[in-house]
Amino acid sequence: MVKSYLAINICPLCNSKRYQPIIRISNSSEKTDSQVTIQKCLRCSNAWTFPSPDYVDYKNEDFHQQSISVSSQLDIKTISDLPEEWQKSLKMQVSLIKRYLQPRAKILEIGCGEGILLSELAYLGFIVEGIEPSFNASLRAKNKGLKITNSLFPDYFPEQKFDLVILSHVLEHIQNPSRFLRTVSQLIPNGYLLLIQTNYQGLIPRLRTKDWYAWVPNEHYWHFTPFGLTFLVNKLNFRLIKCEYSSLVHTGKKNKLLQIIAKTIPQYLDQFHILFKLNN
Ligand SMILES: [Zn+2]
Repeated sequence: MVKSYLAINICPLCNSKRYQPIIRISNSSEKTDSQVTIQKCLRCSNAWTFPSPDYVDYKNEDFHQQSISVSSQLDIKTISDLPEEWQKSLKMQVSLIKRYLQPRAKILEIGCGEGILLSELAYLGFIVEGIEPSFNASLRAKNKGLKITNSLFPDYFPEQKFDLVILSHVLEHIQNPSRFLRTVSQLIPNGYLLLIQTNYQGLIPRLRTKDWYAWVPNEHYWHFTPFGLTFLVNKLNFRLIKCEYSSLVHTGKKNKLLQIIAKTIPQYLDQFHILFKLNN
């Protein structure tokens, strides 16, 4: 069922017939040596994984902990416990939120992991709440004293409204992002939407192609660009407020060197934070 959703000769996000394959990579989730193609739309610039991922049971996943484990730091309580680039990115997100939201504003993070960003925002006086499908991650977030619901969205749909909804590395896991964001928009009348996404047009993904770790073809339906996301959400009545770039965490000499070069041109970094406002 999922595969047929994309088995059509048009961009699933804008219906353009103009698209091209950019890379073929192996799908590491499968025991057989299956390959998937990343297709790029020449109109909206978003890309997608074809064939698309199979069902993933996020309740039993713990991907935040997995990526943190890479850095050998298992006891993550605050931003300062994270790798340097991750810290920088989170600090930029906090700073962006502080620029546009009043103290005591109500913030919901969907897919909040173990609540590192929410803890920081709570400390600053924002009223925060999280939804997290992973049982283990939600437990660690609750242990930080946060209000967390262990569920998928919108299986759990909060009754109250918010001033901001945050989706950090969530939208690429969603089969129908337009429908998902339309549902999200019901929670933020006149409010903001902050998306944190990988940037597949960054320098490292362009030059290291298959070695860039953020394709995750067994889980990611989509690979967005700031232009592509803006195109997508404009139809849902969101308008672009601000876009900033940051870097994913990289190891290895080649990646580190490319990261230094990418920092001279922000659009070449391989992550972005994009803030939209709903026009109601
Ligand atoms: Zn398109």
